[in-house]
Amino acid sequence: VKLAAALTVVFLAARLSGGAPPVLIRNGRVIARAGARPAAEALVLAGGKIVFVGSEPEARRKFPGARLLDARGGFIYPGFADAHGHLWELGQNLETADLKGAPSARACAERMLQISRSLPATAWALGFGWDQNLWPERAFPDAATLDVAFPERPAAARRIDGHAVWANSAAMRAAGVTKATPDVAGGKIVRRPDGTPSGVFLDNAADLITAAEPAPTEADMHRRLQRAMETCASVGLTEVGDASGDTPGYDETYLPVLRRMARAGELPIRVYATVGGHDPRLDQYFRKGPVTLGRLQIRAVKLYADGALGSRGAALLEDYADDPGNRGFFVTPPAKMREIVEKCFRAGFQPWIHAIGDAANRAALDAYEAAEEMIQPKDARPRIEHAQVVTIGDRPRFAKLGVIASIQPTFATSDMGWALARLGPGRLAESYAWRSLERAGARLAGGSDFPIESHDPLRGIFAAVTREAPDGSPREGWRPVEDLSRRDAIALYTTGAAYAMFQETVRGEIATGRDADLTVLDRDLMDGPASEIPNAKVLLTIVGGDVAFLGP
Ligand SMILES: [Zn+2]
Repeated sequence: VKLAAALTVVFLAARLSGGAPPVLIRNGRVIARAGARPAAEALVLAGGKIVFVGSEPEARRKFPGARLLDARGGFIYPGFADAHGHLWELGQNLETADLKGAPSARACAERMLQISRSLPATAWALGFGWDQNLWPERAFPDAATLDVAFPERPAAARRIDGHAVWANSAAMRAAGVTKATPDVAGGKIVRRPDGTPSGVFLDNAADLITAAEPAPTEADMHRRLQRAMETCASVGLTEVGDASGDTPGYDETYLPVLRRMARAGELPIRVYATVGGHDPRLDQYFRKGPVTLGRLQIRAVKLYADGALGSRGAALLEDYADDPGNRGFFVTPPAKMREIVEKCFRAGFQPWIHAIGDAANRAALDAYEAAEEMIQPKDARPRIEHAQVVTIGDRPRFAKLGVIASIQPTFATSDMGWALARLGPGRLAESYAWRSLERAGARLAGGSDFPIESHDPLRGIFAAVTREAPDGSPREGWRPVEDLSRRDAIALYTTGAAYAMFQETVRGEIATGRDADLTVLDRDLMDGPASEIPNAKVLLTIVGGDVAFLGP
């Protein structure tokens, strides 16, 4: 509902830049950089830039023809940027009904119907997160419940654990599933007493349904990206570092759509995109060099050193504490990482290496060190994404090699329930150590890894400052020795993210001559209890002088 309202406003909002007269933002309190006290009350924007910072009377005198925009007493921050998110996946999520906690099968169908209203007739209605244990009958649902809501449109919803799909009759028809369809190895078709499929497909049998879902069309991709970016603007984000490069299908499908949208001036926020380190066309990208198309920049390469800690895929130097003999695995062998990094440095591309485990972080640092010695790039700013488990000995190497630690503050509070089991106490003390990394001289950039985590930067700032989950637990924070100051937490999403995307001279702070990217909040994040940070309201998001979001 909130999104729909936001979209309406965005469509109605006038485009403020281009040949338009300057815009005078009045009735605000300008916070020029992270940690600064509110100073000026007015800003003037023209040609996508900030051209004046000061008092309203002076602004009116200097720019008599300017159009007025009321900041409603809000605090005007430099535009917030998320250094690491996934727009494509966020767009998909926004078109998938969230069924978590739904109290009945009918309630699930209702939620799916709501979401599907904004979709074209040909699109499937999708849902995720149903759990029949929460329903009165505590039994698997039946296709008939979905058929009431979707007599024609195929509908399919995955169970909360991912191990079952619930489909309607139209989806089963599209999949060619009938009474005669045999069970699949490693899966099961749940059947009614008469042998007909009931609509629930377990494990491998679920593929019968999901394989029938049509691949997204260009229009689907365009719509999803647009929604994802507008949703980002609604939480105050003016730019996203898109980490989806190296996701199967991204380079061939979504990236070209993003490029077309950028060329047509259709991006509501800025995107700093990655290409895949294993993309067969990587050498082509390297030959052409970094690309800037309006609000889209392509000059980074994403690759994975290892997997994730929760599933014991993170590469560790020693065994998992809860799985002796297992040290996880490398997704990209270290020698291959070095080879790709060297090519990046030669071509002026910025490598982003996903590294969770201490062995993966060390291998990434080794790759950067070796490539820097060989190529001696001028200003490469290589990044490590996540930098989650880093030995104390490796911490100073970030500063020495100029490696950016691209961190996700909410990971600490999302993982705190099980990280100790995986790592044991010794390694835990070396993990999610944002403050220690900063004190060792590392430059930090803040991100969320949305949609795995919330895309709301205020949640990230809150987690960085308090090390508490959104519900405030644990009370004094999880390993509060790693708390960041409020100034440093805000810097993650402003100056830190700007530096991590080579933009620190044009973004990250408010000053004349800089890009007119602004995030207006209803409060000063330096004031009041930290528990209130996530409750701040976004009043206005401005990108390149255009209103990308206007709050209620
Ligand atoms: Zn990611």
